[in-house]
Amino acid sequence: MAFPTETVYGLGANAFNEDAIRAIFRVKGRPADNPLIVHVDSIGRARELMQVEPASFQELVSRFWPGPLTVVVPRHAAVPDVVTAGLDTVALRMPDHHLARELIAMAGVPLVAPSANVSGQPSPTSAMDVLHDLNGKIYAVLDGGECRIGIESTVLDLTGERPVILRPGGISREDLEKMLGENVSLIDSTPDHPPSPGMKYRHYAPKAELRVVRCNEALNTSALVPLIRAEKEKGRSVGLLAAEAFRDVGADVFFSLGEGTALDYARNLYRGFRFLDKAGASIIFCPAIDEQGLGSAVMNRLLKAADIIIDI
Ligand code: AMP
Ligand code: MG
Repeated sequence: MAFPTETVYGLGANAFNEDAIRAIFRVKGRPADNPLIVHVDSIGRARELMQVEPASFQELVSRFWPGPLTVVVPRHAAVPDVVTAGLDTVALRMPDHHLARELIAMAGVPLVAPSANVSGQPSPTSAMDVLHDLNGKIYAVLDGGECRIGIESTVLDLTGERPVILRPGGISREDLEKMLGENVSLIDSTPDHPPSPGMKYRHYAPKAELRVVRCNEALNTSALVPLIRAEKEKGRSVGLLAAEAFRDVGADVFFSLGEGTALDYARNLYRGFRFLDKAGASIIFCPAIDEQGLGSAVMNRLLKAADIIIDI
């Protein structure tokens, strides 16, 4: 069953039921070596799933749970291999959505819940997105409206000497550093050495070709005009995913990112990809934003999805 969380919609299964978990991999077309996050409704439950408790665990989760922080900890033997793709660590999170927590409580067991989309597609941020990808393949989706954050959780590895961010997400590095009183590094990911198994796959991308436009200063709306015109002259249908101020720069289809804050981007990024794909755009332009706070997670997703990065 699919359900809403504050990040994106998840496709849930009993974390102890190996058949159900295998069905999730099948339905999503998810590679078996990409481990799943286990969702819990209490800190006590999380403790039952770890072999040893990392020093900063209590401090971190009492501040950031429920919320978009996933911690990677040494795995308890009770956690099946299919969940962790055979790793000796497990990823845990308590989501900040009442429907998610009520469902976990009713199930009486922790739930694995990868994003409820077909692997490689943009993650779903509404019940309709889930049905678009998985209708007929899953039992049901709980409709909790649009997701409040819109991009996935921060994955923080607590198994080393110092905490390391494996995937930037809904909780910013700055917030983690403030809380821990130490520098938190963001793992440098290269295709040959993915920090976390899931990061080696192409993710989040729209079907259309995506061009991310970067600029040292605030991007001038008029800077996009010639880029868009050149593509239109080639006969391409041009989509633009940008702040409201860019509405009139000449794209065939426009999806507004409101005022263009990092939260506006996060909430609307996957929605915008899906909308512009449906509208038939063959190419999508999207201005980059500052990699501060939530902006770092937004840019991580945008750059991963991008076909071309244009620096102007
Ligand atoms: P998704 O469910 O699609 O949001 O993906 C979950 C993310 O968490 C993927 O990038 C996984 O690689 C990562 N993850 C899950 N379990 C672990 C683990 N034990 N160690 C490192 N990363 C993990
Ligand atoms: Mg996913």
